[in-house]
Amino acid sequence: MSKLELLRIENLSKRYYNKTALNDINLSIEKGKIYGLLGPNGSGKTTLMKIIAGLHKQTAGNVLISGEPLSYKTKAVISYMPTENYMYGEFKVKQVVKFYKDMYEDFQEDTALKILNDIKVDTEFKISKLSSGLIGKLKVALTLSRNTEFYMLDEPLNGVDVLSRDVIIDLITKSYNENKTIIISTHLVSEIEKILDSVIFLKDGNIELHGDAEELRSAKGMSVEGLYKEVFRNA
Ligand code: ADP
Repeated sequence: MSKLELLRIENLSKRYYNKTALNDINLSIEKGKIYGLLGPNGSGKTTLMKIIAGLHKQTAGNVLISGEPLSYKTKAVISYMPTENYMYGEFKVKQVVKFYKDMYEDFQEDTALKILNDIKVDTEFKISKLSSGLIGKLKVALTLSRNTEFYMLDEPLNGVDVLSRDVIIDLITKSYNENKTIIISTHLVSEIEKILDSVIFLKDGNIELHGDAEELRSAKGMSVEGLYKEVFRNA
């Protein structure tokens, strides 16, 4: 294992009944980078993230985090944001913040409250009263307020208006430093490609392409978005 490697995936497959969601995937993720896990709906992004986060069990293959097989220990060091709204509608934002504080030892309440104030999320509001843009921003703010080295955000831009998308991208950029690794899944490539160091194209459960974003742009003479359209045109 290289010193730079955070995550190693070996021959990973996941089948749901007769549907193959991930097909013998091999992948190495380095520390200190922002990765885009790109592919249209149904390509296997959520399945892959949930396996890494320890929420789904693979059908075959291995996942190693800093050389350790998946366990409650690896699960605890990943700050994972699911794509769905998992917050109880009757809770106020401040109760969700308290829930995070109780749940995660590494949660930095002060950081979270400062971010929520900066992005104008009122902590007295009930979750059920928030717009989808505010929900999106809140989820990302909470996920990034954990002090850990590995973050996975599943479709953080989905169902979120354009202005909120900019706020979310800004939050990710500001939270990042060279000790942190962030994997972001999305099918909305144009807005986010500027912050991605590395991209992984997932197509029908297979890794179609994996590489450094800048190198791909210069080798192929087009943006990551252009490449995405080419790879997935007939998907
Ligand atoms: P993405 O996140 O890229 O949209 P998913 O990982 O959600 O992709 O889904 C990959 C494939 O696995 C899809 O064809 C989806 O229908 C299927 N799938 C996902 N979850 C289940 C499940 N619980 N039961 C059966 N099929 C599933």
